[in-house]
Amino acid sequence: MELIFEKSRPGRRATVPPSCDVPERPPEELIEGRLLRSGIDLPEVAEVDIVRHYTALSRRNFGVDVGFYPLGSCTMKYNPKINEEAAGHRGFTDIHPFAPMDRIQGNLRLMHELGLYLAEIFGMAEFSLQPAAGAHGELTGVMIIKKHFEKRGERREKILIPDAAHGTNPASGALCGYRVVTVPTDGEGGVDTAALDRLMDTATAALMLTNPNTLGLFEKNILTIARIVHERGGLLYGDGANANAFLGKTRPGDLGFDVIQLNLHKTFSTPHGCGGPGSGPVGVGPELRGYLPVPRVVKEDTSGRPRYRLSFEAPDTVGAVRSFWGNFLVLVKAYAYIRALGAEGLTRVAEDAVLSANYVMERLKDYYDRPYQRRCMHECVFTGARQARESGVHTADIAKRLLDYQFHPPTIYFPLIVPEAIMIEPTETESLETLDAFCEAMIAIAREAREDPSLVKEAPHTTPVGRLDEVRAAREPDVCWR
Ligand SMILES: *Cc1c(COP(=O)(O)O)cnc(C)c1O
Repeated sequence: MELIFEKSRPGRRATVPPSCDVPERPPEELIEGRLLRSGIDLPEVAEVDIVRHYTALSRRNFGVDVGFYPLGSCTMKYNPKINEEAAGHRGFTDIHPFAPMDRIQGNLRLMHELGLYLAEIFGMAEFSLQPAAGAHGELTGVMIIKKHFEKRGERREKILIPDAAHGTNPASGALCGYRVVTVPTDGEGGVDTAALDRLMDTATAALMLTNPNTLGLFEKNILTIARIVHERGGLLYGDGANANAFLGKTRPGDLGFDVIQLNLHKTFSTPHGCGGPGSGPVGVGPELRGYLPVPRVVKEDTSGRPRYRLSFEAPDTVGAVRSFWGNFLVLVKAYAYIRALGAEGLTRVAEDAVLSANYVMERLKDYYDRPYQRRCMHECVFTGARQARESGVHTADIAKRLLDYQFHPPTIYFPLIVPEAIMIEPTETESLETLDAFCEAMIAIAREAREDPSLVKEAPHTTPVGRLDEVRAAREPDVCWR
């Protein structure tokens, strides 16, 4: 495909601005000469060329609005367009971050109420909406844990993290200066409680746990785990990035979690990927409230008329973790989503997400092996080890072959403890027909792997860009680009 620069023809243009009706001043009078450029090389194209160029490019892309996107641990659910409409409201998009508080009462109220909803849904005392991503929420959560022990004068230098955890967990612990100690997974895909019992001591600040974990399995021993951690004065941190499995069913606060972060862009439906925008609210139990970031939105009700304001008064706060008030428009979308679904709708999300994942697991289990033979939650994990052994077709090949069937591949090679891992998260927004079509593609690929392995190993065959074999692409770019 031609670059837009290659389509350029001198003098061709999409718009002609009206001629200037005030005296023009030479640019050197306005901007220092050394900062001025002359002759920037911009493409000269007609409007129709621009439209066709970018439309063609967008059609080479893949997104959840194009097709099924079962990327485990990332919750690529369909994002209702009504949320975009709400977030596009001028009262939300055109607000200056320093607008006086009496002019933005509605915006403050939205943040305040969203915080209350999240506290109710997740069983926590209070949330800060400031962190801008899941990893950022984790970091904030661990900063809160650190502050808690500093205030109590306790020296704790370790943090425990299961070997199945998302890579951001050890990163967040390490960034806060903790030594990260790995807790092994037991034969059933949960935390090895005997190992936890050995490792958890009074020099350990917290256990960072994901439940359901990244194997898509519910941590059956969660109450025992919480007891072991709490008995030795530690805190239980919950990575709530993937809350799709338990909305309305159980609450981290009730299970013993002291701090959690959420990924609003996953569970609460904001288009994401490619780095943003995100939102990773951090919620805490009652004894950790004082450490939450500032500012917090508080509601005052003195004159019988509620008034909202940003409060910076919190002597023990970890401080501000992001400029201004977080990714506000993501908060609007989450608010719209929660209000649209209500308590019943959110519970239904969890039921349908879990049903979809179990349906896919049941349909594929005879064709791909599973590392753990348990009922799954919102995602199911397979291993391509059998295919690799029997026909030399690896998980990466299966993933690339799926592109030829018009599906985005699942997450692969994660969690790290499963060799040749294939992690499928269908989400609640897909129809039975879509799930069936995906399963049939996976089954067809399992057959191809046996009968015609090179077909799979050389895939994809139908995409605008052929196999991006990282090594080969660097060596022979002409072979890889069609
Ligand atoms: C996505 C995810 C994260 C990180 O969230 P980001 O918003 O990408 O920073 C952390 N933990 C788990 C389990 C996740 O799935």
